[in-house]
Amino acid sequence: MITIKRYVRAESLEQAYELNQKRANRILGGMLWMKMSKNAVQNAIDLSDVVSAEISEQEDAFVIGAMTVLRALETHEGLNRYTGGAVRESLRHIVGVQFRNTATIGGSVYGRFGFSDVLTMLLALDVRVELYKGGIVPLETYAEMPYDTDIIVNIIIRKTPMKTAYLSSRNSKSDFPVSACSLSFRENERRVVIGARPQKAMIIRADNEVMKLADADPEEFSNALAAQVQKEVKTSGNMRASAEYRRHLAKILTKRASMQILKEGRTGLC
Ligand SMILES: Cc1cc2nc3c(=O)[nH]c(=O)nc-3n(C[C@H](O)[C@H](O)[C@H](O)COP(=O)(O)OP(=O)(O)OC[C@H]3O[C@@H](n4cnc5c(N)ncnc54)[C@H](O)[C@@H]3O)c2cc1C
Repeated sequence: MITIKRYVRAESLEQAYELNQKRANRILGGMLWMKMSKNAVQNAIDLSDVVSAEISEQEDAFVIGAMTVLRALETHEGLNRYTGGAVRESLRHIVGVQFRNTATIGGSVYGRFGFSDVLTMLLALDVRVELYKGGIVPLETYAEMPYDTDIIVNIIIRKTPMKTAYLSSRNSKSDFPVSACSLSFRENERRVVIGARPQKAMIIRADNEVMKLADADPEEFSNALAAQVQKEVKTSGNMRASAEYRRHLAKILTKRASMQILKEGRTGLC
């Protein structure tokens, strides 16, 4: 169980940052993950007054305040138009609506959880993480950084033209995914992100041989991309599935998501 000695509603980002430098203090997101830990927290730092909980759609990007709840992303018309519904698909299986009305994007990105649908989805897009002290870093870089004491202020999704699709496989509804897969097809890149390996999501970019088939028959291209993913993805076994089963799922989900983009013409293009 987590115990909290003092609750602090931060009045400035600087105050929140200063407090967060002490090991016994913690930033609060929706507290859904944190409440399951066995921590004794001295000061629990609420960012509600200093970090936005809104999505601002701008001409070239979506700027999402770190306190925005997952449900707001799931139901955001602009984000789903841009991703052809992939953002909604990535979030709608996470526990339940009440849960997604509380879990924040900031807590989800900071966590960089292996099982994360959120990280898997975002890594397929052109995403930057805005940190209070650390500036703006690509999500791909942030995902590999060690856990630190900076504060995520915004998640920025640039409107780079691309088509996207998201699929996951679960043993039972609302459980953690056994495998998660998001694809983005851009002008010069075909990107596959495989999450819940069960390690943190990894990016696989179509190699030159597969790219040669980019204008070929959709099935031929999708088979080649899926075969590359099956070869390169690194998986492990745990209580939910074996490494081999996850590797198989990564192939299947990649093929299906690729076919969705190529056959159903998922529009992620703005
Ligand atoms: C039972 C359960 C099932 C789940 N299933 C799934 C699933 O299937 N798929 C999925 O993708 N996710 C799943 N999640 C994860 C969930 O979606 C959230 O990612 C998670 O709860 C963290 O969000 P939070 O707002 O609750 O963060 P918190 O628990 O409040 O915080 C998590 C961490 O982030 C830090 N933090 C929070 N905000 C910031 C910030 N702005 N800057 C810096 N650090 C910050 C906190 O200090 C803490 O260390 C599950 C979680 C639970 C508890």
